[in-house]
Amino acid sequence: MKPEILQICPMSPRIEAAFDAAYVVHRYWDAPDRAGLLAAHGPAIRGVATDGHYGIAPEIMAALPALEIVASYGVGYDAIDIAACKARGVHVSNTPDVLNDAVAEMAIGLMHALVRRIPQADAFVREGKWLDGTFGLTGELTGAHVGILGLGRIGKEIARRLQVSKMRVSYHGRHEQAFEPYVYYPDLVAMARDVDWLVAIAPGNAATRGIVSREVLTALGPRGNFVNVGRGSLVDEPAMVELLVSGGLGGAGLDVFADEPRVPEALLGLPNVVLSPHQGSATEKTRTAMGDLVVQNLAAHFAGDPLLTPVV
Ligand code: NDP
Repeated sequence: MKPEILQICPMSPRIEAAFDAAYVVHRYWDAPDRAGLLAAHGPAIRGVATDGHYGIAPEIMAALPALEIVASYGVGYDAIDIAACKARGVHVSNTPDVLNDAVAEMAIGLMHALVRRIPQADAFVREGKWLDGTFGLTGELTGAHVGILGLGRIGKEIARRLQVSKMRVSYHGRHEQAFEPYVYYPDLVAMARDVDWLVAIAPGNAATRGIVSREVLTALGPRGNFVNVGRGSLVDEPAMVELLVSGGLGGAGLDVFADEPRVPEALLGLPNVVLSPHQGSATEKTRTAMGDLVVQNLAAHFAGDPLLTPVV
C-alpha cells in the first residue's frame, strides 16, 4: 500500500511524477473543497510536501493526526511551526546547500544591477535615448566594504564572490567564526556605520524579526546600499521605504519582502531600488536539485532511513 501524502502547493512536473510513483497524493491547492479533502483523507495522511512560502498552516496540521513528516522545498522554514512539529514528533526536512550558489549569484547580481544602474541602462538603450546623449557615470563595486548579516552557508558563498571581486568583507552574526578570514562585528549598527553595503542573508524567525532596524539603515546612510536576499521579515520595511524615498538610505536591491507577493507601492517608482520577485534559488539547475532533495527525504523517511537534510 502506498503511503498517503498531502501536497500543499504546486511543484514541478518532475517532482509530482516522483510523488505519483511512490504515494497516493492529495493535492491541497487544487482541491475544489479543501476542508472536505482534509475531513475525508486527513486521518490517513502521513506526509506533507510543501515549500518555504506556504509551509503548513496550523489548521492543516490539526487535521492530520497521523502526520509523520513535513518535507519542505527551500532552506528557510519560517512558515513551519517547528516547535509544534517537535512536540508532536513530526520530522521536518528542508533543502540546504544545493541552493547556496544560486542565491549568492542573485545577491551579487543585485549589487551590480544597483551600482551600475543596469535596469536603467537597458531602458535607456531600448528607448533610443543613446542616440541623443550618453547615459552618464555610475558607482563601482571594486574596493567597496561589504557587511554580511548572516555568514552561514549562503553568506560564505557571497563573501567568497565579493573577495574575488576585490571587495572587503565583514560580517555580523551571534557568534564570531574563528576560522573565517573576515572581520567580525558583534554589533550590527557598528557594522552598518562602517560599510558601504549591507547584505542580509540570515533566516527569518522571532529573533531576527526587524533586526535591520531604522537605526541600522540610518547608520548605513545616504551613501550606503542595502541588499536583502534573506527574508522580508528581517527588515523594518516601512522605515526602509521611508529612508529610500527621503535619501536617508542610498539604495536597495531586494529579492524578498515582508508581504510577498505584495511590494510597497512607494518602491515601484524609485530609481535607487532594484526589485526581484524572490528569485534567489530560482534557476533550473538549483530548483531541480531542491526538488530531488524533497523526494529523497520523503523516500528516506518511508523506508525507515535517516533524513538526508533534517531540521527536526
Ligand atoms: P544558515 O543557517 O547556514 O546561516 C544563517 C546565518 O545567520 C548564520 O551565519 C547565523 O550566524 C546567522 N544568524 C542566525 N540567527 C541570527 C540572529 N538572531 N542574529 C544574527 N545572525 C543570525 O542559513 P542559509 O545560509 O542556508 O540560509 C539563510 C537564509 O536565506 C534562509 O533561512 C532563508 O530565509 C534565506 N534564503 C533566501 C532565498 C531566496 O530565494 N532569496 C533562498 C534560500 C534561502 P550565528 O549562528 O553566528 O548567529
